[in-house]
Amino acid sequence: MTYDVLIIGGGPAGCSAALTLRQRGKTVLMAAADAGALAKARRVDNYPGAAHQSGGQLAAAMRAQAAEADVEIRQASVQRVLPMGKSFSAMIGSDIVSCRGVILATGAPRGALLPGESELVGQGVSYCATCDGMFYKGKDMAVIGAFPEAVEEANFLSTLGRVTYFAEIPHDTAALNASIVQMSETPKALARQEDKIALQTDKQTRLFDGVFILRPVMALSQLLPEAEEENGRMKTDAQGQTSVPLVFAAGDAAGPPYQAAKAAGEGNIAALALCRLLDAEKAKESAKEELPHENT
Ligand SMILES: Cc1cc2nc3c(=O)[nH]c(=O)nc-3n(C[C@H](O)[C@H](O)[C@H](O)COP(=O)(O)OP(=O)(O)OC[C@H]3O[C@@H](n4cnc5c(N)ncnc54)[C@H](O)[C@@H]3O)c2cc1C
Repeated sequence: MTYDVLIIGGGPAGCSAALTLRQRGKTVLMAAADAGALAKARRVDNYPGAAHQSGGQLAAAMRAQAAEADVEIRQASVQRVLPMGKSFSAMIGSDIVSCRGVILATGAPRGALLPGESELVGQGVSYCATCDGMFYKGKDMAVIGAFPEAVEEANFLSTLGRVTYFAEIPHDTAALNASIVQMSETPKALARQEDKIALQTDKQTRLFDGVFILRPVMALSQLLPEAEEENGRMKTDAQGQTSVPLVFAAGDAAGPPYQAAKAAGEGNIAALALCRLLDAEKAKESAKEELPHENT
């Protein structure tokens, strides 16, 4: 199925955008790795109509309202969005979905990269086991995991080659396949060493053919490298349109002030602007189909 819009993020910006898109009749997939920043607020007193609520209550109410409006919600991390001409493919866990437009509602920039990481992406370092695992059949792979879903991906990779697992952040790894070697070392840096990737940890340097880095939240530069950033946030116009056509950013991802009401407002603005573009494209396509064919 091709969704009209993929929203990445399930906080105030994502939920607000989702509600507006559903009201305009669009099909929406909202992928959210976790509850977002709002859920961490002990009490929110500056969001209209929600006095004295905890951030967790408010965030859950927003999510429930989106689900009620028939937004398809997946608790999953999006690893990569690929522009494909008139549509986009997105890698969500081990699944690939297609959509016509994207709203990045991913929250404030998070996730420091390892030194050397960004230079080696696509050259031995990957964020997607499903996409790149086959390149390392019968080879030595490291998985740097930062959340429980990474265990599932490591298990998949262990069906292809030898896997060594490093927990970047402590998490439950009990479900790792028996063939996977788990190290109690913390990854510190990556570098190329001839045809191998050298993974430096707090204890030593180890060599691998490929390194998979699996975190719940990707840096925007990794999620959609085609979109321009400015001062560590997505570069957008007043409607939230990024430098990639049909990709919008809203909320904390689009810059300060980092406030829930501002995020919800930007989600709404981005959704309306994206609707206009999608409707205009559809009208153009229908007009083309209605043109009488020459020579017939
Ligand atoms: C402790 C704390 C207290 C706060 N108190 C207040 C307050 O009182 N009032 C106020 O107005 N604001 C407050 N804020 C700020 C407020 O929470 C944020 O401004 C607001 O949540 C931003 O909304 P957002 O939708 O842009 O991002 P977020 O709510 O952060 O949501 C981001 C979403 O994107 C998802 N995501 C990111 N990357 C990916 C990916 N690759 N794949 C899938 N999902 C992804 C995350 O899982 C999450 O669901 C507080 C923040 C904190 C941390």
